[in-house]
Amino acid sequence: MPFTYYNDQIENPPIVIERGEGIYIFDKRGKRYMDAVGSWWTCTFGHNHPYISNAIRAQLDKIEHVMMAGFITEPALLLSQLLGAILPPKLQRIFYSDDGSTSVEVAMKIALQYYALRGGSRTEFVSFDGGYHGDTLGAMSVGNVPSYHSLFHERFKKQLFAHSPYCYRCPVGCSKESCNAECMDSLELILKEKGENIAACIFEPMIQGAVGMRVYPAKVLSRIFSLCKKYEVLTIADEVAMGLGRTGKLFACEHADATPDIMCLAKGLTGGYLPLSATIVSESIFTEFKGSYGSDRIFNHGHTFTGNPLATAAACAAINLLQISNIPESLNSISQKFAQGLELFRQYDIVGDIRMLGLAGAMEIVKDRKTKAPPDQSSRLTWKISQKALEMGLVIRPLGNVLYFMPPFIISEEQIDNMFLITNNAIKETINERLTNL
Ligand SMILES: *Cc1c(COP(=O)(O)O)cnc(C)c1O
Repeated sequence: MPFTYYNDQIENPPIVIERGEGIYIFDKRGKRYMDAVGSWWTCTFGHNHPYISNAIRAQLDKIEHVMMAGFITEPALLLSQLLGAILPPKLQRIFYSDDGSTSVEVAMKIALQYYALRGGSRTEFVSFDGGYHGDTLGAMSVGNVPSYHSLFHERFKKQLFAHSPYCYRCPVGCSKESCNAECMDSLELILKEKGENIAACIFEPMIQGAVGMRVYPAKVLSRIFSLCKKYEVLTIADEVAMGLGRTGKLFACEHADATPDIMCLAKGLTGGYLPLSATIVSESIFTEFKGSYGSDRIFNHGHTFTGNPLATAAACAAINLLQISNIPESLNSISQKFAQGLELFRQYDIVGDIRMLGLAGAMEIVKDRKTKAPPDQSSRLTWKISQKALEMGLVIRPLGNVLYFMPPFIISEEQIDNMFLITNNAIKETINERLTNL
């Protein structure tokens, strides 16, 4: 099991899920769980959505797969058109692969080869502390979440890292009120010193997700873009988690009114149905790769299942749903409700920070609100709270000391109330148990 201690798995065997419906999943005994993390942020329109399911079924009656070289299928063609219509005009060249990590590998390889084809020698990348771009080796070299990456940074490779835009614990000691994106001075320093060697800057726009939903201001994102422009470094926006509506904009980069040179999409691309990702590049990057037999102008990269028709059919349906349901505009009122509900958790001393954007939100658990000291590791607070919640029928698997919510877009106001009510009860019970155990 990924990210799972074996002994935990023995103590709490995995729950066998039999079916899903909307924001709920049901185990074999019929117990219902609300999927408040959208099955690792993929499930945007709910489980077992008839429109997406039927699209896959219809495709299944035609063909399951054919290699995407010399051949292509209708859904793969259609998806490129549908994506093209919602992507920024500058980003129209699409390369499919299988998941978020591979979309990042593709982006990195394209950036390296782009400079090689232009006769340059840029070989490095810059990214951010707290960044997460996937678990393959290339993607890990640009990620910096110590618990996931340090071992492999020591033994394999790491790239350059600027500060994390972590407002609750600002790395340069600024406050939200006076912030002028000073944390990105660290990026400027790196670009100034090594810019000529750097192929691209890769970042998660607006929210560093896996490290614990660190939401940061649009002015920080704007500064990343302007610095990269100034030092002529390509921008790779890893929109794998936050793209396609999650942050209240179709793409999170829109918060800074900016378009990257390369964009990665995955998680919600198929509405959480099948693995599929896309790496999208600008025309000027694509142009370098136009070539004939015998030249180096070819992208020698591919995965066996690239452009799989079932996955692309699911993605076509999911993109149609985005448009039919007028996402992101239609999420405005539900995300207000979401924000109000989340704010109520400030009443707890153990809640140090609350942050949200669109339909992504989180609370950071601390031992002491004043000093912001993290909880004792042995207390395993967030884990215990989430286990309690699970008993009560709510899935809120935490990230370190952070409890977060990434519900499907179709969640109702009543279901939001219920999600926070159960979370509240789980926190209360966990705290009470601790007090009686002292
Ligand atoms: C999840 C994630 C990835 C990796 O995607 P996988 O499909 O798990 O390989 C990459 N980047 C970001 C920002 C992610 O959240």
